[in-house]
Amino acid sequence: MSLLELRQVDKSYRQGGLFGPREAVRVLDRASLDVGRGECVALLGPSGAGKSTLARIALGLEWPDSGEVRFDGMPLLDDRGRMAAATRRAIQAVFQDPYGATSPRFSAFEVIAEPLRYAGLSGAPLRARVRELAEQVELDPGALSRLAHRFSGGQLQRLCIARALALQPRLLVLDEAVSSLDLTTQARVLALLTGLRRRHGVGFLFITHDLRLLRGFADRVLVMEDGRPVEVDDPFAPEPAI
Ligand code: ADP
Ligand code: ADP
Repeated sequence: MSLLELRQVDKSYRQGGLFGPREAVRVLDRASLDVGRGECVALLGPSGAGKSTLARIALGLEWPDSGEVRFDGMPLLDDRGRMAAATRRAIQAVFQDPYGATSPRFSAFEVIAEPLRYAGLSGAPLRARVRELAEQVELDPGALSRLAHRFSGGQLQRLCIARALALQPRLLVLDEAVSSLDLTTQARVLALLTGLRRRHGVGFLFITHDLRLLRGFADRVLVMEDGRPVEVDDPFAPEPAI
């Protein structure tokens, strides 16, 4: 059974209006998508194609106009738009801009600790778990007392990844989340994520404009076409020699 299922999802936004009439622009048009347990599905497409909209719907941050979104076979949101607490923990996301995704007032420690505190951890077990997560993304635990926003973009993004892993998610949505990391860090982060897939069956929806990044990692590659993800047959085939 699929971890995440989108079925025939439609989404339109009203655009324009300043000078002309406000028109509804259809961003997703009967979009369907599945992510299985331990599967990595890559989603590509040009800017404005609707990738982030699809991601926000998969995260329950937005309602589709019509269609179904299921997690683990159950509707992602109930009739009132609420998500079950267990599902909220099970689906985590990392976005492109780590500065926008973290509080400037937080130390690096607090960024990772926040979800763990909600989950009831405190004291020595909390500190040990934060250190462990920092080490997993190869951040120096000695730097955890610094303000998170003093970190470089790459360090801060790794911190965001550690936070996303804190509650052992079952599905990770990465929206251009590794694109900004340097090549060495990208490789290390992908190796870490590969471990999570193999050992814990974590599924990935990986939005990127850089397919090369996902060679050996993506099981399936989809491209947004006319508002819906379309599977690419042989995405990693070498370019034909001319
Ligand atoms: P991508 O992630 O592929 O770049 P997006 O999902 O961000 O694409 O955007 C798809 C289209 O939907 C764009 O034309 C964008 O302007 C529009 N859009 C996205 N979010 C909103 C919104 N909240 N209100 C109005 N238009 C939006
Ligand atoms: P190791 O390489 O040390 O054996 P694993 O790759 O098995 O580690 O992962 C262990 C770490 O990954 C633990 O800190 C665990 O909490 C964390 N983790 C993150 N996401 C998950 C998940 N979905 N299920 C289980 N552990 C997870």
